[in-house]
Amino acid sequence: MPLFDVYPLYNITPERAEGCKVFDSKGQEYLDLYGGHAVISIGHSHPHYVERIQQQVAKLGFYSNAVKNPLQEELASKLEALSGCTGYQLFLCNSGAEANENALKLASFQTGRKKILAFKGSFHGRTSAAVATTDNPSIVAPLNAQHEVVFCPLNDLGSVKNALQSQDVAAVIVECVQGVGGLDQVETTFIQEVEKACRETGTLLIADEVQAGYGRTGKFFAFQHHGIQPDIISMAKGMGNGFPIGGILIHPEIPAKHGMLGTTFGGNHLACAGGSAVLDVLEEEKLVAHAEALGEWFVQQISAHQIPAKPKGRGLMLGLAFDFPVGELRKKLLFEHHIFTGSANDPKVLRILPPLSVTKEELTRFFAALKSCLQ
Ligand code: PLP
Repeated sequence: MPLFDVYPLYNITPERAEGCKVFDSKGQEYLDLYGGHAVISIGHSHPHYVERIQQQVAKLGFYSNAVKNPLQEELASKLEALSGCTGYQLFLCNSGAEANENALKLASFQTGRKKILAFKGSFHGRTSAAVATTDNPSIVAPLNAQHEVVFCPLNDLGSVKNALQSQDVAAVIVECVQGVGGLDQVETTFIQEVEKACRETGTLLIADEVQAGYGRTGKFFAFQHHGIQPDIISMAKGMGNGFPIGGILIHPEIPAKHGMLGTTFGGNHLACAGGSAVLDVLEEEKLVAHAEALGEWFVQQISAHQIPAKPKGRGLMLGLAFDFPVGELRKKLLFEHHIFTGSANDPKVLRILPPLSVTKEELTRFFAALKSCLQ
């Protein structure tokens, strides 16, 4: 049976991986500065993570959400302690789109409204409401286009205030650092004013931390660079280091009502064991501070190596903006130097999303390869 042809594929077959290294079926080594699309947070095959998942699957991989699951409580309390999001409630699901779908739905339940404000350049996922809030008409099916979404330019406060004044917007959904779009960021004064406008108009603020979350930007969540307090925070990707898990953190003032949200697989035993191990390693290896320090060092290296690109993003959620499309450069890095990097909707941006455990030596190898490709 043929596979549905979803993406153009590179002719590489990863077979095993360790830390920031991926090995293909021919035994060739690759440096992973893409993290399988910002998913690998603590490094591939981390021994603590492997051990927890192995032990859990041998004991109990899954049981339904109709019974108590102490692993969910373990994950929630570690998450609360490490993120600093005190009092928030946790709902677990399986992916980033699903997290945003539930966040948007919850905002609609809470406010009784159905309009959403999203930003130009955004990417929030491919399920119905999530894709409707994504600024890419080519992936929005006619069915999804029935959602009421208003798109405002990022950092344009006037247009946000204008859209909120009718007091019929359920939520503003924002990536504080836009991932797929190309690493544009919210300005602190802008997002603080958006938060204020949300409070004044009874609109909920949803921070999409699916790509930035769990330390990638040098703080546990990207919104924490700006001193705001979102009503709902969506997470996935790095949360499970490859094991599918997503979730939303819900402000203490939003009450839960039975039946509003639900899931079969979300928060299953195996996913929680993996998610819990990720938090252990983040804390033990101080990976959030490491991401911040290496991100700053990376930016300095761009000028030290006279790379003709502008740095974007923060921490280890980085972009290099060139003045030419980077498709060929990415291929050269991959096939000639065995380095995985990422693309963005902005064709001139090369994305760097390594495991948060990446070392200076590994990034130095990248700069040497980049210089050679640019010659
Ligand atoms: N939100 C953001 C910011 C993302 O970057 C992504 C995926 O790239 C998603 C949501 C969707 O996540 P998923 O692919 O797990 O559904």
